[in-house]
Amino acid sequence: MRLSVIDHPLVAHKLTALRDRGTDSPTFRRLADELVTLLAYEATRDVAVEPHPIETPVGPTTGVRIRSPKPIVVPILRAGLGMLDGMVRLLPTAEVGFLGMLRDETTLEAKTYANRLPDDLTGRHCFVLDPMLATGGTLVASINYLLERGAQDVTAICLLAAPEGLEVVRQAFDEHASVTVVTAAVDERLNENGYIVPGLGDAGDRLYGVV
Ligand code: URA
Repeated sequence: MRLSVIDHPLVAHKLTALRDRGTDSPTFRRLADELVTLLAYEATRDVAVEPHPIETPVGPTTGVRIRSPKPIVVPILRAGLGMLDGMVRLLPTAEVGFLGMLRDETTLEAKTYANRLPDDLTGRHCFVLDPMLATGGTLVASINYLLERGAQDVTAICLLAAPEGLEVVRQAFDEHASVTVVTAAVDERLNENGYIVPGLGDAGDRLYGVV
């Protein structure tokens, strides 16, 4: 597994405003959207392209275009939806699939309760969107789901990560050079309720309010 922590003043500035408890929901949504676009710029660094000949007004040249099969963006319900617009702004030709994950209260394992994805992901680059990499259970189950269906590369984009969750993901995908986690920061720890400290609170509630 590869880890990329994006060290950039704009990322740090927006993340600080996101963490602030005084930031209201509309501002939080806008900042999350902008932050994802910045993270997506780094996360798509290895996206596969192919040569593409074109004519400029002045003459012929060969550029590149994103290769088929097109990447798939996979927000994890519910909070990952708040990252979708920021991602597809940068990758408008990507397809979008959805994964809903729930924790089974008897086995404590994350299980899929909803999916809207092709059965065959052979050769696809999947970008998983999940704002908080906390215990790592949901992310490991999501990445396994995609790899089992043939995904070639899986890049998870998380606003924040806890060291404990990163270790769980690292152990699960130790051997997989094709699994990458991109995040704006690795925080101190998880608290006894599974929240990232200092974190930003409940990302879903801050995006969408408590329902
Ligand atoms: N999920 C959240 O929304 N926040 C955390 O801190 C941990 C998990």
